[in-house]
Amino acid sequence: MRIGFGYDVHRLVEGRPLILGGIHIPFEKGLLGHSDADVLLHAVTDALLGASALGDIGALFPDTDPVWKGADSADLLREVVRRVSEQGFTLANVDATVVAERPKLRDHVAAIRERMAGILGVEVSAVSVKATTNEQMDALGAGHGMAAYAVCLLT
Ligand code: MG
Repeated sequence: MRIGFGYDVHRLVEGRPLILGGIHIPFEKGLLGHSDADVLLHAVTDALLGASALGDIGALFPDTDPVWKGADSADLLREVVRRVSEQGFTLANVDATVVAERPKLRDHVAAIRERMAGILGVEVSAVSVKATTNEQMDALGAGHGMAAYAVCLLT
């Protein structure tokens, strides 16, 4: 068994759609980044890469490369799932926590889990997504961005 950990953070800005866990969430701001800036999928992608010791998302899909501009993070994650299974690993489960002051994510968690399970090629029961706030402390607590933490287990 191999454990993997991933972390990511992106700024929240006006004029961008909010894409989180591969779904669009209605909100007045969106995450800023070279790709669609899906902070949750990026953390999960890095967890998979960590468990398989295949590097990190920045090394595989550099934000200096125009190829990845506006990239769909689901495509990047799918590519990493492919590489990980190529190494002979099977994904047992993923557990993630999103840190966001707003919007409230509770009503979107079921849709996010379903979408992520589809991207990862596992049952929904193998995908856990949790949401918390930063209790109004620091930059995340002021709503300047969102962070995500993820762990996964490969067998
Ligand atoms: Mg990122």
